[in-house]
Amino acid sequence: MLIVQKYGGTSVGNVDRIKNVAAKIKSYWSEGHQVVVVVSARSGVTNELIARAKSISAAPSEREMDMLLATGEQETIALTALALHSIGVPAVSRTGAQAGIITDTFHSRARISQLTGGDIKERLNEGKVVIVAGFQGISSESEITTLGRGGSDLTAIALAAVLKADICQIFTDVDGVYTADPRIVLDARKLNHICYEEMLELAASGSKVMQSRSVEFAQKYGVPFEVRSSFNDQPGTIVKAFEKTMEDALVSGVALDRTQTRVTVGDLPDSPAAFAAIFDALGESSVSVDMIVKNVAPIPGKANLTFSVNTDQVGYAEKVITAALKKLGAGTFRSSGEIAKVSIVGVGMTSHPGVAGTLFRALSEAGINSELITTSEIKISVGIAPDKADLAVRSIHSAFGLDK
Ligand code: ASP
Ligand code: MG
Repeated sequence: MLIVQKYGGTSVGNVDRIKNVAAKIKSYWSEGHQVVVVVSARSGVTNELIARAKSISAAPSEREMDMLLATGEQETIALTALALHSIGVPAVSRTGAQAGIITDTFHSRARISQLTGGDIKERLNEGKVVIVAGFQGISSESEITTLGRGGSDLTAIALAAVLKADICQIFTDVDGVYTADPRIVLDARKLNHICYEEMLELAASGSKVMQSRSVEFAQKYGVPFEVRSSFNDQPGTIVKAFEKTMEDALVSGVALDRTQTRVTVGDLPDSPAAFAAIFDALGESSVSVDMIVKNVAPIPGKANLTFSVNTDQVGYAEKVITAALKKLGAGTFRSSGEIAKVSIVGVGMTSHPGVAGTLFRALSEAGINSELITTSEIKISVGIAPDKADLAVRSIHSAFGLDK
């Protein structure tokens, strides 16, 4: 079989861990499989490099940043290849460019436009393990690019698609995808399988096991993959297309995102055009908005809009909204503190009524108020006070019987 494996930053965090990864790779290779391995930089290295650059320049050139950040993965591919050599496994490392990962020219967030694989097939046929640097590519203008934070996941999924791998394994520091964060809910369970949609909603709702873009890519090209731990031999969570049998699980998981802030735009003209002006301005500036509520203001003909934005985008959102309000000639901006977003996710929700009832009964019994609510076909999110977040997750988890 052809197996693509990806090892994240913690899994290759130091020399001992790299040796551990090499032993794991050897166990698959020894069984006669062809193995392509994608590695991240050692954990912390990418952040360290960013901090170093920022200590020299407040607004560093994006081209030079990509040149710099790509070095993190180049260290680990070489060390992993050396670790394999030392235990008798023929292995060769490849940069993104050498692996034929061609991208557009947008530094720091490049998209893959073509993937040739370079000489990977030939090297595999010689019996070698091929180690590819994650996160990096080469642009159509021959510049080194990077694929956005967490981009090694994308490298692995894209290689699995192009090489038509039989298996794609994402090795990480958790055992798989859980019904809730096990640090909050002691009896959270590992899910055996979930579908792409659920994985995407869970990632967007704060359970950041993988880069969202890589999951979207896997969904688009139908690449099933497994998320599993590099620290043990337990099977992980299989992520694949929806199957009818998944329906018996009403709700698959409870996710928590603590990085939201509530923003109110007050005294707006109560008209769709005014709301459009606000959300268009935010959209054009790539500020994503979640959980929107409209209230009638005390002043006749006026309305208030309350919504949540990512906490690190609040300053930017204020700038954009203030400019839009100036054009409108009305309205006020107010940010009113951080909130926690708790979400239940599950494809089974579409076919089962009463899910919202169970959710709000659980919150009410725990004495938790929710001000902001948003729903999609397979998700309900509520915005609540941050100090109630853990209690909310536990109450909801048990209300849906996810511990059973
Ligand atoms: N090293 C890169 C990052 O930290 C890419 C990755 O780890 O997937 O974002
Ligand atoms: Mg990662």
